[in-house]
Amino acid sequence: SKYVYTFSNGVADGNANMRSLLGGKGAGLAEMTNLGLPVPPGFTITTDVCTWFTSKGAVYPPSLEADVASALHLIEASTGALFGDPAAPLLVSVRSGARASMPGMMDTVLNLGLNDSTVEGLARKSADPRFAYDSYRRFIQMFADVVMGVDSACFEQILHHQKTVRGVSEDTHLTAEDWKHVIECYKAVIQQHAGKPFPQDPKTQLWDAIAAVFKSWTNARAITYRKLHDIPHDWGTAVNVQAMVFGNMGDDCATGVAFTRDPATGEKVLYGEYLVNAQGEDVVAGIRTPQQITISGKETHRSNLPAMEECMPHVFKQLNDIRYKLERHYGDMQDIEFTVQGGTLYMLQTRVGKRTANAALKIACDMVREGMITEDEAVLRIDPASLNQLLHPTLDPRAKRDLFARGLPASPGAASGRIVFSPERAEQLGQAGEPVILCRIETSPEDIHGMHAAKGIVTTRGGMTSHAAVVARGMGRACVAGASSISVDYAAGEMRAGDLVLHEDDVITIDGEKGEVLIGSVATIDPELSGDFAEFMSWADERKRLKVMTNADTPKDCRKALEFGAEGIGLCRTEHMFFEPGRIAAVREMILAENGEDQRAALNKVLPMQRGDFVDIFRIMAGRPVTIRLLDPPLHEFLPHGEAELIEVAKAANLEVGKVRDRVAKIVEVNPMLGHRGCRVGVTTPGIYEMQTRAILEAAIEVAKADERRVRVEIMVPFVAMEAELRVVRGLIDGVAKELLAGEEDHVEYRVGTMIELPRAALAAGKIARQAEFFSFGTNDLTQTTLGLSRDDAAGFLPSYEAGGLLEKDPFVSIDREGVGELVRMAAQRGRATRSDLELCLCGEHGGDPASVEFCHQVGLDSVSCSPYRVPIARLAAAHAAL
Ligand code: ADP
Ligand code: MG
Ligand code: MG
Repeated sequence: SKYVYTFSNGVADGNANMRSLLGGKGAGLAEMTNLGLPVPPGFTITTDVCTWFTSKGAVYPPSLEADVASALHLIEASTGALFGDPAAPLLVSVRSGARASMPGMMDTVLNLGLNDSTVEGLARKSADPRFAYDSYRRFIQMFADVVMGVDSACFEQILHHQKTVRGVSEDTHLTAEDWKHVIECYKAVIQQHAGKPFPQDPKTQLWDAIAAVFKSWTNARAITYRKLHDIPHDWGTAVNVQAMVFGNMGDDCATGVAFTRDPATGEKVLYGEYLVNAQGEDVVAGIRTPQQITISGKETHRSNLPAMEECMPHVFKQLNDIRYKLERHYGDMQDIEFTVQGGTLYMLQTRVGKRTANAALKIACDMVREGMITEDEAVLRIDPASLNQLLHPTLDPRAKRDLFARGLPASPGAASGRIVFSPERAEQLGQAGEPVILCRIETSPEDIHGMHAAKGIVTTRGGMTSHAAVVARGMGRACVAGASSISVDYAAGEMRAGDLVLHEDDVITIDGEKGEVLIGSVATIDPELSGDFAEFMSWADERKRLKVMTNADTPKDCRKALEFGAEGIGLCRTEHMFFEPGRIAAVREMILAENGEDQRAALNKVLPMQRGDFVDIFRIMAGRPVTIRLLDPPLHEFLPHGEAELIEVAKAANLEVGKVRDRVAKIVEVNPMLGHRGCRVGVTTPGIYEMQTRAILEAAIEVAKADERRVRVEIMVPFVAMEAELRVVRGLIDGVAKELLAGEEDHVEYRVGTMIELPRAALAAGKIARQAEFFSFGTNDLTQTTLGLSRDDAAGFLPSYEAGGLLEKDPFVSIDREGVGELVRMAAQRGRATRSDLELCLCGEHGGDPASVEFCHQVGLDSVSCSPYRVPIARLAAAHAAL
């Protein structure tokens, strides 16, 4: 089979569809070559070779050496340079490139092919010999770091020393002679640290570098990244070998990165940064402050340096044309890397650009309007979970801001938290649930775990495309980058800006939209849900089949859910109302009552409170269906704690304390979650459910009359295991309804249904459906009871199950399709066999999890119900499932 794919002079063996074989970078280079864009010639060694290399113990397929040699000849022919030739040396880059982009995870070696003799040739050929030695020292440093495992810090020290000796602050001010000296020091360091010399033979250099790329697929950083991003370990990486072009040959040379639209806001501007007379990752590494590309992007930058549009108008125009060409071709925003050599533009990479959730939404909407993509494509392009970032608050513009420092608005969002300086501490505190802001001079791939654990990130160096900025946007973390007025002192655990000093653990707030670091925590406001968001969500709604309801217990939740597009309440938990101040005493009295009479007195106190709550909810929901679950938790949960509460209850109920204490002793349970709860209370203590039904129906009648609209009530019975329980409870409910609803049929529509949250109920669903007009799958309890796993205690060992690969995902987060899901599927079928118009909903936490929503769609449920903030996520997930 074919292991090497070439791209050269407008002809490539591969194309954009060959990502799995060529990696993202290789496929992009091939596609750009085929599109006629200026790409330096090169070849890609396939991911199959990586698999071969990794599985067979660092060896290659037999034909590879010859394939590489002939591909190299093709580059030589196309560039007119020869690999290892002292007079006209060909230099190449060796670049990794996996199927999914893994920024910063794999290492690239530039200027390969230089040695003590070819560097002379390169120097003779260029106007300024300084460039050749600059390239050589870069190569030695990268090669030593990536291939020979010599720590970069050693080289930084030598470089720093040389600059100090020469009294200059920037690399570009060092002369050829300086670099020659630096190179000799570098070589000595390598000999010392690696115990062998820096290899002079270009062929050895090439094969060592190729092997290093393949090996880096299995280094710890790469493995962590893949775990975090669900990338399979067996994909492997490709290796790209490509003729060098030089951005460091002088002032008509540059290197840069750009997005075809603004990745933070989605605005339609060519957005990027570049550095004159620089190479490779200088821009991203934040060595000097980069210049922006377009004039209009300048407001968000600190630097007053001219834009490329001003100082290289010809190159800018070319880049802009390529931008449109790539966008039209790929139908999506692209993230590109380029180099300018002697005023000529070369493209080095293109890939679909990472963007914030805000930008993703704007870009999708704009591209539909520009006719680039369809509404279906737009809907599918937004990851439902990412909407989370749009629904959360931003800083209140009226709140007082105590400015500490300004930087670049690298990733939007507002976040407050304690200052931490190390990723380790960020992870430690973040895992303990403590909000932290990670403050660093700059970040690198080693810091990813800490960035993940932090609410926000501040860096003092680097631009909009620095590592911190790119990763923060991808993770949806707020980020202020390049806040250069801050100086961080890791050792002292403090950072300063002018006269201000902040210490580790002090609270700060960052505004990723404005690029500000603020002292203390600052008030927030709710997000904007109109405009593009509303339009986009209407596209999703047109495509979904599932209804999306909400779990809401309070008027506040109901309003929020309606704002987020809920079509009704799928689960209103009545007991949440019981714990409000001023109520719990009456509730306890009701539960502890000895006899019917005492209980009636207590119920009469609770009834008006419940009725009042339901009036508010029905009014807000304005005729949409409202599903109210009767009392569910174990009575045990409402018992008074300690002597003071005991006395309080006794007083309210007009009972002796001793009597109350005896009663409490009778109710206490060892395992309350499997105890006296749900419909079992309805069976033993009918007064409570009767009172609740009364409160619900009276409230419904009141609102229906006052607001002149029909109210839709669904009364839901929890924790049913068998038909007989539901028959008894339904009898109670129907009895009250018969009394109250006589003559009110026009005002109130009412139905009775049940939760399916016990395996027995799922199995007996066919019979239970005789008593129920709807089912709602309570998958929190159903997961607990099916797996025999306590949600509150599982945290002790579930992570080991996930880490050990025994469980793919936490079953409380994403539905366990094989077990719990099977029960849902079976209960749905059996229930519908009894009652064909049985309505089916799912109301556990899973109702807001995209994968679980997809499952609900597949098994034919009618609706899902989730917490208000998850409603838009569920709507979009439902649309994805339907497309
Ligand atoms: P990464 O995956 O980390 O972005 P790349 O392989 O894209 O690594 O290389 C990093 C940078 O090195 C590129 O953005 C580009 O600036 C530079 N580079 C890579 N290959 C070449 C080349 N053939 N000529 C000039 N610069 C190159
Ligand atoms: Mg890199
Ligand atoms: Mg790159």
